[in-house]
Amino acid sequence: RIAYVNGRYANHSDAMVHVEDRGYQLADGVYEVCEISRGFIIDMKGHLDRLDRSLRELRMDWPVERGALEFIMREVIRRNHVHNGMVYLQVTRGVAPRDHAFPTTPVRSALVVTAKRMDPKAAAKKAEKGMTVITVPENRWERVDIKTIGLLPNVLARQAAVDAGAQEAWFVDPDGTVKEGASTNAWIVTADGGLVTRPADFGILRGITRATVMKVADDLGLKVEERAFSVEEAQSAREAFVTSATSVVMPVVSIDGKPVANGHPGTVARSLREAFFAIAEKSPSC
Ligand code: PLP
Repeated sequence: RIAYVNGRYANHSDAMVHVEDRGYQLADGVYEVCEISRGFIIDMKGHLDRLDRSLRELRMDWPVERGALEFIMREVIRRNHVHNGMVYLQVTRGVAPRDHAFPTTPVRSALVVTAKRMDPKAAAKKAEKGMTVITVPENRWERVDIKTIGLLPNVLARQAAVDAGAQEAWFVDPDGTVKEGASTNAWIVTADGGLVTRPADFGILRGITRATVMKVADDLGLKVEERAFSVEEAQSAREAFVTSATSVVMPVVSIDGKPVANGHPGTVARSLREAFFAIAEKSPSC
């Protein structure tokens, strides 16, 4: 596999970052993950717009111009022969002697881009089965709207899910409402067939897949309501599902061991998943 690291393409085994890269020492960086489906980079514009916002919120510079980054992403995808899979990019504040404050002499932000192949048949099989979810108390900082590489609470939440034999963990506020998953946005389908997902304020990451699923829902004539919902409401919902670039639309079949509806993936999640690709492949790339 080939990765791009700060101006060069290298085999993964030779692709290294400096020990004083601020991403490595301080998690001082941001990232994006885009889905690649049938050779299309899904929602590339949305992902790079969000990258721009994350960088601005953290007062970081683009490592290269946006057009150059698009070129590098396509080149990494091409060199790895990825037709279906994902492309990962990470920007850190650069290399400087370790200090919490920003470097006083200007340094170039550092860029890493990788890509990997994924089997769409395996993903479809997973979606047929659905996933199980546990809930964990929200313990992240207040700026989870920024897609930073500081993911330790998400790592621990996901591991708690794995330890419990589940696949995802939902962060829950003290008032009992669901925030989002460790790497997914959370949705439910109400008895009348409408979709509910939490408003994308500072409390969750504004998922790019979430936004596209809203458009897909509109195309399918489904109503979408942005409001908080409780764990109990999700457990007794008609359906539940999560969205992300890597999982697209993934049905949730149980929450904290309680089956959602009959414990099998529902028809709304399935139709959203099917309609997603047709619509997403037409959305503007860059
Ligand atoms: N929420 C969190 C915490 C995430 O890490 C992610 C993706 O990594 C998402 C939601 C889904 O966002 P997207 O649809 O842009 O992949």
